[in-house]
Amino acid sequence: MKSYDVAVIGSGPGGYVAAIRCAQLGMKTAIIEKYSTLGGTCLNVGCIPSKALLSSSHHYEEATKHFEEHGIEIPGDIKVNLEKMIGRKQAVVDQTTGGIDFLMKKNKIDVFEGLGSFVDATHIKIEGKDAQEIEAKKIIIATGSKPSTLPFITLDKERVITSTEALKLKEIPKHLIIIGGGVIGLELGQVYRRLGAEVTVIEYMDRILPTMDAGLSKELNKVFKKAKCKMMLSHKVQSVERKGDEVIVKAENKKGEVVEFKGDYCLVSVGRKPYTAGLNAEAAGVKLNDRGQVEVNEHLQTNVSNIYAIGDVIKGAMLAHKAEEEGVFVAETMAGQKPHIDYNLIPGVVYTWPEVAAVGKTEEELKADNVEYKVGQFPFRALGRARASGDIDGFVKILADKKTDEVLGVHMIGARCADLIAEAVTAMEFRASAEDISRMSHAHPTFAEAVKEAALAATDDRALHV
Ligand code: FAD
Ligand code: NAD
Repeated sequence: MKSYDVAVIGSGPGGYVAAIRCAQLGMKTAIIEKYSTLGGTCLNVGCIPSKALLSSSHHYEEATKHFEEHGIEIPGDIKVNLEKMIGRKQAVVDQTTGGIDFLMKKNKIDVFEGLGSFVDATHIKIEGKDAQEIEAKKIIIATGSKPSTLPFITLDKERVITSTEALKLKEIPKHLIIIGGGVIGLELGQVYRRLGAEVTVIEYMDRILPTMDAGLSKELNKVFKKAKCKMMLSHKVQSVERKGDEVIVKAENKKGEVVEFKGDYCLVSVGRKPYTAGLNAEAAGVKLNDRGQVEVNEHLQTNVSNIYAIGDVIKGAMLAHKAEEEGVFVAETMAGQKPHIDYNLIPGVVYTWPEVAAVGKTEEELKADNVEYKVGQFPFRALGRARASGDIDGFVKILADKKTDEVLGVHMIGARCADLIAEAVTAMEFRASAEDISRMSHAHPTFAEAVKEAALAATDDRALHV
């Protein structure tokens, strides 16, 4: 029987990063993945394919709607070849997952293909291509998550679908009904709206992206409405029924009226749930909580001292970079180091256009905590760079402590915000004040100038260009 210092179950961004860091720290490491490709949800059916389709559909929208204003004329019709677009997405996925194979080899990590299940706290049975039992002194559970649904919905995966199917449709829906105005619903909704589908978003709460700062929800809602998406807020879905090629969704509005929607596809994007099926966690004595998450302490250690858990299968935001941080954290903890993760500083990004990004506390959270704060906001339309490229929607908002000026939260919506948020994370990691940011030189003309201007506005209302 092969024996390891560490075995990682699951090869998503949590698992494969943990494996690499363990190997870097000198541990003999194995990784077990039930699918034939590495990379988990993120690389195969999550972050990477969704961003590939967002990019392709963005190009299409630019070509059909904005090239003309730049003086670019294309003779004849511009058409979408969906098969080719999905094919390109798959090529990007294949290249990216292939890159993980390379990283495993480079770091001398043994890869086992098959379902891993606990025999006891130090033995894992692998069923599948590389069937065998292995032994490991320490084990990291990184089994991720799966889409969740509503109890009355039958996901047939043809017309009533999750994000996984939405990433490989064979036709552009005529009318895509989306249940859940969260990250997946909005990203994939925008993809298909750009490609020509009618899109209706049905959201239970009174705003989309309900966990983000309300200012961002409001601004993105405007963008979706401008693109003629139907935004049905405060609607509680009651039933989803498929009749042939038609899907009928009924939802109750605030007045108690039942509203009916008819479409040809329905995307269910109401969140994801931790995945531990087949893991046989009981055999090792590992406890799950009542939400199905693996229970961990502040060292990300389960109740069984040699077994750790990371990523979507434990509490916290279901984000690839959060899983990665935890992978590194656990590897370094096992090596006797004292790593640290500041969960308040894990940024959240929605890759719509304009992009939405945030880090730290929202205004709603600061109010609830009775923190006295000041606000500095700057609109992108006041920036030369934004006007030059034609991306004028959105703003940067900085929230700073009223007395100390320390930055407590940064919320932005606009072009390139997914990348701009890194400056805010760096600043907050070093506990910068708004004035610190405002006194740093920002290259001109850039979108990043909006961050400096918002910081000036937060410092003492002295933005220069509004
Ligand atoms: P996963 O990536 O889910 O990986 C777990 C792996 O474990 C899987 O490969 C699974 O097959 C394997 N596994 C499970 N059980 C076993 C077992 N018993 N034996 C062997 N293998 C097993 N996050 C972002 O930060 N940015 C984004 O832009 C983003 N976009 C997304 C878009 C979509 C459509 C979706 C669905 C998700 C997106 N996410 C995004 C979320 C992100 O994908 C997850 O947070 C991330 O993948 C979690 O990583 P993980 O390692 O915890 O688990
Ligand atoms: P989500 O939690 O972002 O959004 C779910 C939405 O569905 C919420 O707005 C919620 O209020 C709504 N909802 C819940 N029940 C409902 C009901 N009965 N009727 C109508 N609406 C209802 O979940 P998601 O969009 O499915 O994404 C799952 C996870 O994947 C998220 O945790 C997210 O972090 C991750 N993800 C991240 C990215 C990114 O980082 N860009 C992209 C995609 C997914």
